[in-house]
Amino acid sequence: MNNQDDRSGMRERPDLMGRINRGQFRFSLWYLVAGVIGLMLLNALVLGPRSVETIDYSEFRDRIEQGTIRRVEMSPSYYVGSTVTKKEAIELARQGALDKIRVFRAARIDDPGLIPLLERQEVEYFAVPEENRPLLGFLLNWVLPFAVLFAFWRLMYNRLGKTGPDVLSFGKHHAEIVAEGNVEVRFDDVAGSEEAKVELAEVVDFLKHPERYTAIGGHIPKGVLMVGPPGTGKTMLARAVAGESGVPFFRMSGADFVEMFVGVGAARVRDLFRQARKKAPCIIFIDELDAIGKSRAQTMSSNDEREQTLNQLLVEMDGFDSRTGVVVLSATNRPEILDPALLRPGRFDRQVLIDKPDANEREAILRKHAEQVKLDPDVDMNAIARATAGLVGADLANIVNEAALLAVRADRNSVTQSDLEEAIEKAVAGLQKKNRLINPQERRRVAYHEAGHAIVTHMTPGADPVQKVSIVPRGLGALGYTLQLPTEERYLLTEEDLLGRIDIYLAGRAAEEIVLDSISTGAADDLTKASDLVRRMITEFGMSEEFRHVYLPAKQADRFLRDDRTVSVREYSEATQQYIDRETARVLRQRYDGVRRKLESHKDVLVATAERLLEKEVLERADLDEILGRIDATPTG
Ligand code: ADP
Ligand code: ZN
Ligand code: MG
Repeated sequence: MNNQDDRSGMRERPDLMGRINRGQFRFSLWYLVAGVIGLMLLNALVLGPRSVETIDYSEFRDRIEQGTIRRVEMSPSYYVGSTVTKKEAIELARQGALDKIRVFRAARIDDPGLIPLLERQEVEYFAVPEENRPLLGFLLNWVLPFAVLFAFWRLMYNRLGKTGPDVLSFGKHHAEIVAEGNVEVRFDDVAGSEEAKVELAEVVDFLKHPERYTAIGGHIPKGVLMVGPPGTGKTMLARAVAGESGVPFFRMSGADFVEMFVGVGAARVRDLFRQARKKAPCIIFIDELDAIGKSRAQTMSSNDEREQTLNQLLVEMDGFDSRTGVVVLSATNRPEILDPALLRPGRFDRQVLIDKPDANEREAILRKHAEQVKLDPDVDMNAIARATAGLVGADLANIVNEAALLAVRADRNSVTQSDLEEAIEKAVAGLQKKNRLINPQERRRVAYHEAGHAIVTHMTPGADPVQKVSIVPRGLGALGYTLQLPTEERYLLTEEDLLGRIDIYLAGRAAEEIVLDSISTGAADDLTKASDLVRRMITEFGMSEEFRHVYLPAKQADRFLRDDRTVSVREYSEATQQYIDRETARVLRQRYDGVRRKLESHKDVLVATAERLLEKEVLERADLDEILGRIDATPTG
């Protein structure tokens, strides 16, 4: 069953740069705020001691009438009145008794009666263009603009940080470039993923004893690409490789290389490799390779910066040989968008698949994380593992954490089953939106669908035996799969072989219909393959009744077009096309009915297989032999 789930939704792109920038932004803003507060304080301190009393205009006027105010300074916005005249002020200043002067201030009001009043009271009055505050004026006019400019400049500098004079010594801005010395993670800390560990153990061995490999001249992969959905422990495994081999670990994320300015990312790649060579043997780990390794053909607008970065990476990988002792590990959850150049020999020529964990692996991961918390002895981890189909290591780690928090909140001193169950519910509520967890009905349907494929494969003579059946949602597209192991390489296929394949493709849907009485979109991929095969049998292999031994060219590569795009060139009549369509439909219906009958006659085995699948999620060869052995392979009808 192949349901394309929304891959973009799965994409996990921690915006590392963004987070750092926001931090720096706040930082410079604080400077600005502090500056302004400082200015205000200064202003108050320097200009404050004259004890200026701010009063209402009416009171100001009263004081003039009473004769307390002897001198008035008028500015466009304020009146400032003092209790002494200028002459008296000079006299008081000479005696050092300026503090006897009181100063009042009032906001200006357009009062035509004021001047006559001042004249009457014989008050000195004069006008100033603006309030007479030289220091404040100086600060406002000179210091503040520069402060603002400076703050702004700092902000910009931080944001584009790596463009200054130290483009190349980016260590300052990126702590990550510094190699981690003693990585603590070990393979044992990563539960499950046994196959991946076996593959990576070879890298560990090489890093531990490079001389052994260089002496024999064996080929050691330069680059290993780990492929798998987010949260399955790719980063953790990479660090475990470093930990196991005891070598320094350089970690960068693909997103770190994507810069605004052309050439910066490339310079960073160059520097990364230069530093790594100095520290060899060591590991370079490029997380989220897809951020730089996006296929150049696929992107609509060309992004010079990313392209240069990618090219630089390719150049660096070609430029050293594994004898230098540098191994490049990389991780992605979107291998399909990677530039093919990255996967060529001498680059990431080895790929390790890190799948979502099955029930057993989930239990192991849960137990691993539960070591950190105090667990109630009655907890049934197996049940928890079974209830978390489709979740990845990171989710499970979260669930254990969340359960511990719930226990603390409830004032218990150990984590109970119900804490874990509640934590699952919480996690699931969040994840269901992301389409990462399938509901029980869907899971049942997938189980029957895959069981159908497996049984019909088993019943089809000449078909490659079933190796493995799985209903663990694989994230990379499939909700489940049935894996056939080719026993021998086949160069020729007979008509019977092809019909057998078609039967196998159709079996998933047939099983769904038999047991659940309805069909689903899950078979879309199977149907595409089946229909395609039937059509090719008719048009290419001459296996139809009416056009037996006739080649009907449907498609032809047009050599005038670039690439190997094909254009449809039909060299037969419309009537023939109609025949092909009708015949395709007829053959498919006929095969489908046959498959349905076969499955119906072994419904008990179908149910048994599906139930076992629901329980174990993955059935290996041995389990399958046991269940399917109840059927004697009968010749295909
Ligand atoms: P990825 O790089 O594949 O997105 P990570 O390596 O960042 O995943 O895993 C995130 C966290 O999930 C890890 O730090 C670990 O706590 C937990 N985790 C994931 N897979 C496993 C596993 N197989 N065993 C134990 N813990 C795991
Ligand atoms: Zn299928
Ligand atoms: Mg990761």
